[in-house]
Amino acid sequence: MKNRLGDGDDVPYFFRELMAMITTVTEEEWGTSKDPSAKKLSDNTIRSYTKRTLPKKLSQAIVYRLTPEVITERIDKRPYDTRKILAEDLQVYDSAINADNVGQKISDYLVEIIQKSAGMLPLDSLKQQQQEQRELHLKSQYGDYLLQEASGYCPFPGCGKQLHVYVGAKVSPLFSVSKVDKAKGDEIDNLIALCPRCYSTYLMDDNKKLCKELKAAKNTLAVHHRSVQLLDDMALEKGIIGVIGKIKDLKQQDIIGASLDPKEIKQKLDPNADMAIYGVVNYYVSTYFLKVKEIMINLDKRGVIDYEDIQDQMKAIYRKLKKANKSRIEIFYEIVEKIHKVSLQEDIYCQIVVSYFIQSCEVFDAIT
Ligand SMILES: [Zn+2]
Repeated sequence: MKNRLGDGDDVPYFFRELMAMITTVTEEEWGTSKDPSAKKLSDNTIRSYTKRTLPKKLSQAIVYRLTPEVITERIDKRPYDTRKILAEDLQVYDSAINADNVGQKISDYLVEIIQKSAGMLPLDSLKQQQQEQRELHLKSQYGDYLLQEASGYCPFPGCGKQLHVYVGAKVSPLFSVSKVDKAKGDEIDNLIALCPRCYSTYLMDDNKKLCKELKAAKNTLAVHHRSVQLLDDMALEKGIIGVIGKIKDLKQQDIIGASLDPKEIKQKLDPNADMAIYGVVNYYVSTYFLKVKEIMINLDKRGVIDYEDIQDQMKAIYRKLKKANKSRIEIFYEIVEKIHKVSLQEDIYCQIVVSYFIQSCEVFDAIT
């Protein structure tokens, strides 16, 4: 490949270029260096890679973050003659390679090489077929639910790709249904929607640590999804949009002199148990509480919101989550999301609103 695509680059330079194309993982994260302070590999080390297989550690570090489509695209952009010569070079390995498919073929091979170097074994064709059948069946049965549970993004640790593709004016779902723990059954608690690339790589991977990470991801999704269902039929006045609009308009000078020392927050949030959320709520309350209260009362007077209704609704939402044994951080987060859904406003403003209701006692009871 270097002979045809290298443009006169030396081996280490070409290798680094190739890696930059095929993975989003940077050299600092390849994780092969014995000396962690030496972030980059020596040119000699890289030269040695091209004579043997890729190190397992490096392959494992990049195997879930491959971008073969970039390689395909780059090769496809080369002049026809270059692609033709490149294809002829490779025909000893695969007679079906030609100038038109050489980009695709090379990126497929590179993916396979990296997967093998990472210790993954491709399924044989019979198993592959059975697996495809099973996946199709699971997808038709649970696909819609799992796609929703994942909120449309691949939940594989470190991925986050959209589970949709845009083709022209059309949006189509693009995902596969995978088992979380391959030793367990096809129950919905053990199934997850993944992007096709994570799906096919994970299928070959028996890494226990990864399985554990995926379990944790599934658990987070499932817990959150159940909370969302719980709050689905809970009312929340859309007048809250007006409140948030006013909060967004606040300038620094509006807030100066209107700060509050919220000692009461400590009665509802234990800084030792919930430090992160305590810190956030404490800051928002001390900075915004008095102003938000003013906004609420004004909007209530003008009939834009019914302040008592909103208080009751907040209380009801909190009770429902509390009854479902949600933790304080889950409750905070779920109410923020509920407000976000009703108002479509940025989370940061929704957090200010929830913090307001914590201080005004609708959300969270005093710690006993
Ligand atoms: Zn993915």
